[in-house]
Formats: sequence, C-alpha cells, structure tokens
Amino acid sequence: MSRERLYLFDTTLRDGAQTNGVDFTLADKLTIARMLDELGVDYIEAGYPGANPTDTAFFAEKRPTHAKITAFGMTRRPGRSTSNDPGLAAVLDAQADAICFVAKSSDYHVRVALETTEEENLASIRDSVRAAKAKGREVLLDCEHFFDGYKSNSAYALACAKAAYDEGARWVVLCDTNGGTLPHEVEAIVGEVCKLIPGDHVGIHAHNDTEQAVANSFAAVRAGARQIQGALNGLGERCGNANLVSIIPTLKLKAEYADKFDIGVSDEALGQVGRVSHGLDDILNRAADRHAPYVGESAFATKAGIHASAIVKDPTTYEHVAPERVGNKRKLLVSDQSGRSNLLAELDRIGFAVDKDDPRLSRLLDEVKEREAIGYAYETADASFELLARRLLGKVPCYFDVDKFDVSVEQRINAKGERVTVSMAVVKVKVGDEILISAAEGIGPVNALDVALRKDLGKYQSYITGLELTDYRVRILNAGTEAVTRVLIESTDETGDHWTTIGVSANIIDASFQALMDSIIYKLVKSGAPA
Ligand SMILES: [Zn+2]
Repeated sequence: MSRERLYLFDTTLRDGAQTNGVDFTLADKLTIARMLDELGVDYIEAGYPGANPTDTAFFAEKRPTHAKITAFGMTRRPGRSTSNDPGLAAVLDAQADAICFVAKSSDYHVRVALETTEEENLASIRDSVRAAKAKGREVLLDCEHFFDGYKSNSAYALACAKAAYDEGARWVVLCDTNGGTLPHEVEAIVGEVCKLIPGDHVGIHAHNDTEQAVANSFAAVRAGARQIQGALNGLGERCGNANLVSIIPTLKLKAEYADKFDIGVSDEALGQVGRVSHGLDDILNRAADRHAPYVGESAFATKAGIHASAIVKDPTTYEHVAPERVGNKRKLLVSDQSGRSNLLAELDRIGFAVDKDDPRLSRLLDEVKEREAIGYAYETADASFELLARRLLGKVPCYFDVDKFDVSVEQRINAKGERVTVSMAVVKVKVGDEILISAAEGIGPVNALDVALRKDLGKYQSYITGLELTDYRVRILNAGTEAVTRVLIESTDETGDHWTTIGVSANIIDASFQALMDSIIYKLVKSGAPA
C-alpha cells in the first residue's frame, strides 16, 4: 500500500515567538531554522515581515533551506486595495517561498473585531491570495477562529475556507485559535470541511488550552487533514501550540500513522528529535522538561524494583517504544527504594560489569541508602551516582585537589551612590605538582566560585572548555532535626550531552561546591582525561 504524504508546518519562530518570556534574536532564529531544516519539517514559518526589525531582517535575504521558508501576514485591510496596503506589501516583498495569511473566518469576529462586512472579508481573502500567487509564492490561509466560527455560522466559516481554496491557495488551515475545541468536535468539523475541500489541501493549527492540541491535531488527520501546524516543545501563545516534538515520534512510530503516512523526517533525524528539543531549551535558557513525552529525561525511567527487574529481562514490558528510536536512553533509577536489579542494570549501562554476588554491590547500595537518608537524591543526579559507583569500584582518578577556597559577599555603596552586592571567590587548586590560584567575581557567591574553579585547571583546562552549567536548583530539606540544603546542577557540553550532579550540606556554598566538583570531574571522566 502506498503511503500518503503528510506535511509538517513549524511555527516556533512565529506563534512560538509570541510565548510569554520568549524573545528571539535574529541569530536565534537562524539557528532554530537550521535545526528545523535538518529535522525535516516541510515549512518553517519564520515571522511577520514588517512587524518588527528582527523579522524584517530575517526576510531581507533568501535563506537556503530544504523547507519552505514562510512569511506570515494579514490579508489586505478592509476598504483598501492590495496595491495600497503597506502591511501587505511587506509580506508580499519578503524573501520567502510561501506566504501564510491569517484571516477571520468567524462572522462574529468579522463584525466585531474587523468592523467590516462578511462580503468584504471574503473579497480580502480572494484578493490577497491572488496577489501572493501573482508574486510566485505558494499560499496558505490560516482561518482564524475557524472552529468557534463554524459552530455559530458554519456556512460563513466554510465560505472563507472555500474562497481561499478556489482562488488557488495550496493550503487552507483550520485554526483553533482559542484552543478550547475538543478532539471529537475537531474530528467531526474537519470531516465536514474535507467534503468541500480535498483533505490534502487542509491543515490543522491547534492550541493547547485544554492540553489536547496534540490530540486535536491527530483528530484532524484522522478526519482527512494532511498538514499539521505546531511548534517545538509546544511553544506558543498562552498554553502553546501543538507540540511537534511529541507529534513527530507518534507519526513515525505508531503503526496507525506510520503505515499510512510519509513525513519529511527521516529515521536518522527522528533520533535527533531530543537534541533539537533540548537545543531550543538551551537557546531559551530554560531547563528541559524532564517529563516530556519521548524526549524527557524521565520518559524512559523506571524506579520501582519489580518494574526494573522486568525491564531488564525484556524492555517492552514497560516501554511503549524503544528509547533509542528518539535518541533517548533507558534509565533505571537508583534510589533508596531500589533493589539490586536497578543497580546492576544501571551499572551495566554505565559500562561496569559487576557480578550480582559481588560484595561491593551491597556496599554501593548501602552507601546510596545512607546518603539518600541525609538528603541526596541520586535518581535525579545521574552523574553524581556514576561517580559514586566509580569511586566505590575504584575507578575515578584523582585529577586535582582543591586545597582551599574563599568566597566573600560584600554590600557597599558604589561611586554612583547605588547599593550594590559584589561576590568574589578565590580558589587554590593543586594539579599534580602545580599550585594554581584563581580569583573571580560573580553574580552571586556560587557563580563566583564556579567561575574561579573553572578558570584554570592547568593541563585539564582544555577538557572542560565545552562545559556549561544550564540549571541550578536549590531546595531546603528538613532531614532529621536540622535543615539542610540540596543543590542540583545541570550541565551540558559540546557534544550536547546533559547530566545532573548533586550536593547536600547545611551550608549552601558547600552543597554547591560538591555539585560543581562532581560536574567537572564527571566531564573529565567522560572526556577520557588522563589521570
Ligand atoms: Zn496560533
């Protein structure tokens, strides 16, 4: 059976850019566009030329991509001609392969928001599609508020969609702009639209306000739509757009879709989907969602002992797909609840062959339990666990010693008469026979300590240049009678690997120091630095 082509339209750079707290620079946009192109999406909606300097700059030149670079814009304003609308002109003149117009498709919005007539709105759609086609662009029409409009006046909503299709728009995209439509409604309404417009010209743009944007996208595909619009990590206004990072693996790995459809994402690219997702988090300076389907650190993590022993025998017992297909890893969490099977499997994954009767195994399990009792949490701190295991099994070289460190925090009035707080750290490190002293200022005491510690590690410096701290989390715990501080640090490096380390102490600087040290030592071990 030959498969049908299903198209992916990414709007991370347009709808995603409207996310609260997201502000892409031109360099960010170019990087993300490259990632999306390598992933294999069919359309990259890169912004709204004329609306802001970044988007205008993006569309000022031709961007060589496999995907169609798409400019977003509004149809001509009511009462104007296409040749006398500066907003429309900016979109028509943009260096883009395709133009995605947005137009109202709800009679209520035409009257109240646009303050024009239904007929003038239809004329605006027809004229704009025609003008863009005359410019040689592929044309898409986003029918705004389509589902709400359809429920109140289906004839008018359909007339808007049909006007664009009849005028030669390649795609008519049905938008659940307010995100409140439910999957069974989407399926029924898209089914009706596909009786009028062939499904291979119909797209879905779903928002996540009931956390069903992904489900709504699939409902539309089941009803006949053949283009899905979405964003990486579900970025987008309010609760976001449909998450392409969840949609792509489902399309590739679930038989209902994989047997029926081809998409532009190859099997190799599917293995990179997690890296793309984390790459976007890095650009946004956000911690990755540990519980994200397919790509989250916990997506294939098992904690309880009986699940773990079953998963070691046969992974399909508790996994719906193989983690390697999406570039993820199976993880058996080591914690005070875990038994030997977790521990053995985790050691095996790290690369230690230990016999199940090895007495060192009991020592390691006891050590984990003791440490967790005082506040450590190894199930989140995979890299610290690996170091602990390596140490007990006698395999971590002593790369360097921190002889001492000193951190100071000073608050004073500066020359401008402002009250400022300055942190400084001095670290004395012994590397072989060499004594190295580094000092640094930082945004806070932990940052100063981190900068000083990583400033000069002598012969090991070249191994840690790619090391970057991406997240720092602090929790105050009540373990026993005293409060202790738990610090978790997430790091990454030039290979795109992520790892988490932990420190626990009554003193926050000391806890941070432990986690920082573990991160650096883990990086040295991982890079194969010589002892
Ligand atoms: Zn939207």
